[in-house]
Amino acid sequence: MKEYQQLEQQQPLLYKQLQNSFKHGRIAHAYLFEGDAGTGKRAFALWLTKKIFCTNIIEDNPCNQCSNCLRINAGEHPDVLLVAPEGQTIKVDQIRQLKSEYSKSGIETKQKVFIIEQAEKMSIGAANSLLKFLEEPEGQVTALLETESIGKILPTIQSRCQILHFQPLDGKKMVGLLKAEGVGEKTAVLLASLTNSLEKAVEISRDEWFNEAREIIEQWFDYLVKDDLQAFIYVQKRMLKVFKEKEQQKLGFDLLLAYYRGQLTKILTEKRSKTEIRQTAQRVELILDAYRKWEANVSWQSVCEQLVIRMIHPKLSIGG
Ligand SMILES: [Zn+2]
Repeated sequence: MKEYQQLEQQQPLLYKQLQNSFKHGRIAHAYLFEGDAGTGKRAFALWLTKKIFCTNIIEDNPCNQCSNCLRINAGEHPDVLLVAPEGQTIKVDQIRQLKSEYSKSGIETKQKVFIIEQAEKMSIGAANSLLKFLEEPEGQVTALLETESIGKILPTIQSRCQILHFQPLDGKKMVGLLKAEGVGEKTAVLLASLTNSLEKAVEISRDEWFNEAREIIEQWFDYLVKDDLQAFIYVQKRMLKVFKEKEQQKLGFDLLLAYYRGQLTKILTEKRSKTEIRQTAQRVELILDAYRKWEANVSWQSVCEQLVIRMIHPKLSIGG
C-alpha cells in the first residue's frame, strides 16, 4: 500500500488538516505530535518533511523517488536533523548543537526541519533553550516535536506549537490495514489484539519466529480448549525450544490470552451456556495469574505446566 494511503487511513483528520495547511501555505513553524506509540507520529513527521523538500510532488504527496525524498527516508538529508534522548534525557547541549547547526545557513536550501523524539525527556535547560529558538527562529525552520506524554511538556513550549492529537487505531481498522498489507485475516485479528501499532504489527507479521510461535500457541490452545492433557507434555516437547528469551515468553502469554479472549467473544456472541462462559472467563484469569508468577521470576516452564493443571484438573493443582 502506498505510504500516504496508509497515513490517510490511520489518521484521516490529521492527514486532511495538514494537506489543507500546505494548500493554503499555512504550515506552522512548530508542531507537537501527541499520542500513543504506534499511532503514526514518526510516519507523519517524515511525510511532512518530504512534502517540504520533495522536488517532484505528485498529487499533493511526496514522490519518494527524488534525491531529497530518498535521503530523508534514509535519515541522511543534511537539512533534516533528528534529536533523540541520550540515555534518560535530551540534554541542553543537544539543543545548543542543534541551534548552532541551524545558525549556519542551510547546506542545500534555506529550509531546515528538525524532529525531536520523546520531547518530554528534554531537561529544563534543554526545554528553555529550545523555547528561545522557537520564539526567534532563524531562517525557515520547521520543528516537529513528538511525545507520548504531553502532560510532561512545558506549557510554554506547548503554547509555541500547533498541537496535533494522534488517535490510537481501533481494532477493526487495524485488521483492515493489515489485510491490505497482505496479512491473512486470522493473523491480522490476532495482531490487532497484541498491539495498536500498525508498524509494529506489520513488523511482527513478517517475523519468521513469530509465525512459528503463533502456530505453537495455537496448538497449545487447541489442547487446552479440549481439556486434552497433551497440553502438559507439549510445554516441554515443543514450547521450551521456541520461547527461550523473556521477551518471547511474554509474547507467548500475550498470544494465549489473545486466543482465549477471542474464544470468550465467540461463546458470548453464540450465547452458549453460562457454565461455559464462566469457565472461559476463569481461564483468562488463570493466564493472568500465571503471567504474574512468571513476572515474579517463577520459571516459564513450571508456570505453563501449572497453568495446564489448573485449567484441566483444578483439583490436582498444588499451591493454588
Ligand atoms: Zn520527492
